Amino acid sequence: MRALFARHALLPDGWQRDVLLEWDAHGDLTRVQAQAAPPLAVPRTDYVLPGMVNLHSHAFQRALGGLTERAGDGPDSFWTWRDLMYRFAARITPEQIEAIAAQLFAECLRHGYTSLCEFHYLQRGPNGETYARPAETAERVAAAGHATGMGLTLLPVLYSHAGFGEQPLRPEQRRFRTGVDDILAIVEALSPLRGGQLEVGAAPHSLRAATIDQVRELAASLPAGRPLHIHIAEQQAEVEQSIKFSSRRPVEYLMEQLSVDERWCLVHATHLNDEEVQALARSGAVAGLCPTTEANLGDGLFPLQSFIAAGGRFGVGSDSHVSQSPVEELRWLEYGQRLLHQRRNVAFTPAQRDVGQYLWQAALRGGAQATGRKVGLLAEGMRADLLVLDGSHPNLDGAQDADVLGRFLFCGNDNLVRDVLCGGRWVVQGGRHVAQDAITQRYRQAMTQLREVSQ
Ligand code: ZN
Repeated sequence: MRALFARHALLPDGWQRDVLLEWDAHGDLTRVQAQAAPPLAVPRTDYVLPGMVNLHSHAFQRALGGLTERAGDGPDSFWTWRDLMYRFAARITPEQIEAIAAQLFAECLRHGYTSLCEFHYLQRGPNGETYARPAETAERVAAAGHATGMGLTLLPVLYSHAGFGEQPLRPEQRRFRTGVDDILAIVEALSPLRGGQLEVGAAPHSLRAATIDQVRELAASLPAGRPLHIHIAEQQAEVEQSIKFSSRRPVEYLMEQLSVDERWCLVHATHLNDEEVQALARSGAVAGLCPTTEANLGDGLFPLQSFIAAGGRFGVGSDSHVSQSPVEELRWLEYGQRLLHQRRNVAFTPAQRDVGQYLWQAALRGGAQATGRKVGLLAEGMRADLLVLDGSHPNLDGAQDADVLGRFLFCGNDNLVRDVLCGGRWVVQGGRHVAQDAITQRYRQAMTQLREVSQ
């Protein structure tokens, strides 16, 4: 049965009643009709939302979650966390990458993400050697996507230097080493995997790890329309290094040197001055915000209020995967701003004053753009990616349509996502991923092996 009848569904123009949704064998929506009569044999449900986009992920870092929360002697910072991540990245195998990614994707699906952009920089073997198949590790992530049903945008990462001014890579960065030609070869090797559930773009790691000329070359060489993501201005130290090197702040420098447009997703973009806020908003590029990771790493707070006022586009990502829930990302995106500005209800526009609904739809719009895929809206021709909320949960008792997302995002910690359809396939039913047991067993095996080599 490739159909569902929703008593309430969030469509592009807002909540609608009695919506009949149908999709085809490829996983594309073929019919989205409001005020429909319920056909007899079609399953009926209460609240249906378009699935969320997770626009920034390093899947293997899922394995580090909760392991870096002990204070050291000096001030702990992003950079001390990164050292631990490097030690971990040095020993992980392709099989373990696949097992960890599958566990992560199942968790993300269960919490309401149906698309994920994998910013993939672990591309070489432990000693920096190229695998027999140069796209080996990216193909493992794709396999995890296929096994779990997650929609993916694979972003092989250009990583050539350790810092501004072409500093040579450190030994612990040798697994990441790539030049522009390597990335284009990996993009080409992955192209047979492209389809409704998978797109391939590319990502210069940062202006620290790639020169502006490399970034320009990669952007010009990548097939037209493919997404380009880059880490930028995550840390104050990065901004200071950029100014020292180029007399420009990172976002300022990137936008001065390249025509940054809708293809681009600037991940973090935490530290922006007013001019950068305006320029980034004008460009049509997406700001890729990762509130739980940015909080965990002590990065700082993105200037969301002025960015929204300037008409900027944004989406959310779980990055290091200290959380696998879009509820938590969007909640903390809003809460960070409330704490910063000492006021309530920050993320809204005059046209959409309902904070929960504004956040869900704005993050979907930006997130969908960052995927390069046909996702983010329940509309004909888009992917059949949707969430069915648990209409029997007390948090949704008596909810008016306009309240649903406020209750979903800002009340409690129960996961209200009951069923998830991704690419026309039911991947989560009754709150569980349909292949959860096998996925978790492989994940536990991989983690046991990793603990053994670290002892
Ligand atoms: Zn990242």
